[in-house]
Amino acid sequence: MSRVFNFSAGPAVLPLEVLEEAQKQFVDYQGSGMSIMEGSHRAKDYMAVHAEAGANIRELMGLGDDKAVLFVPGGASMQFAFIPINLLGDGQTADYTNSGTWANKAIKEAKLIGNVNIAADTGSEIPTRVPALDELKLTENAAYLHITSNETVAGAQWKDFPETDAPLVADMSSDILSRPIDASKFGLIYAGLQKNLGPSGAALVIIDKELAERVPDTVSTMFKYKTYIENDSMFNTPPCFSIYILMLVTRWLKSKGIENVYAQNAEKAGKLYSAIDATEFYTGTAVKEYRSDMNVTFRLANHDLEPTFIEEATANGLSGLKGHRSVGGLRASIYNAFPPAGVDALVSFMQDFEQRHG
Ligand SMILES: *Cc1c(COP(=O)(O)O)cnc(C)c1O
Repeated sequence: MSRVFNFSAGPAVLPLEVLEEAQKQFVDYQGSGMSIMEGSHRAKDYMAVHAEAGANIRELMGLGDDKAVLFVPGGASMQFAFIPINLLGDGQTADYTNSGTWANKAIKEAKLIGNVNIAADTGSEIPTRVPALDELKLTENAAYLHITSNETVAGAQWKDFPETDAPLVADMSSDILSRPIDASKFGLIYAGLQKNLGPSGAALVIIDKELAERVPDTVSTMFKYKTYIENDSMFNTPPCFSIYILMLVTRWLKSKGIENVYAQNAEKAGKLYSAIDATEFYTGTAVKEYRSDMNVTFRLANHDLEPTFIEEATANGLSGLKGHRSVGGLRASIYNAFPPAGVDALVSFMQDFEQRHG
């Protein structure tokens, strides 16, 4: 077996321990004689997985009884529509911050449903950044304020969160459970699973139960958060295998502790940014104070050398460093499961590459 250092932005690296555990149980889950994919979602084996996945999230995020933990098919992009459908009433306005690619997509979907105020717009700034707290122009009695806690393409991250009267809604797809946060400050947190939690195709949603009551009666059953709350995310057949992997990932996170995971993430990102800042040969693409601990974006001073950098890195077992197709450049995604040894390998490669091409 040979595994590369996988810098993919998403779907992304999973803990090797998790993959190996899933492999061990793949064809015969705990002596049941079948895979977890093959049994009823109402059978006790899957019910236990489902319950543990939810309980692990509750524990890791320190959630109170006022919050519901939901598993919703369709990923984070589906949530871009779900949120205004459920929370943005007739005649109301929702505040959105535009910080780049992902925030912009959320804004486009919200505009299809109702009134949107852009509370701050840093979406096309270079170097990239998220808005500062004192820049926000909020609407009185807004339905909610939406932010993108980590812009995966730009490599920019909110370090502090706004204090608002309106419920705070956050797309945490690319930094959920990467650092301790006070979840009680948020009305709704959502994340596609495929960056820090598991396989793609579904989203984790953490919502104030009261907020879920806002939805108009006319909304289709499967598009109401209430339906997921009332049926423990089992109104439909849930994405069982994805939730099973999420359960294993959250077990792995619990064994480490979020504080330790955060310290390691900060150390990994710090090493890479130091390597970038140490020379004119490389340039970070995000404003320093908003640099992401999850997606380290950078360029070579000589852009023409970037394809060679990517090619040589790939040949050296450093995979997935190409920047998003919309912006080019380079991006090292170093989510929770990305091993520190991979960061060291990239730093060595960067130094070596500069010596040979600088
Ligand atoms: C990846 C990503 C998404 C999209 O997730 P899908 O599951 O593909 O819909 C949305 N927001 C952010 C911040 C992301 O990083």
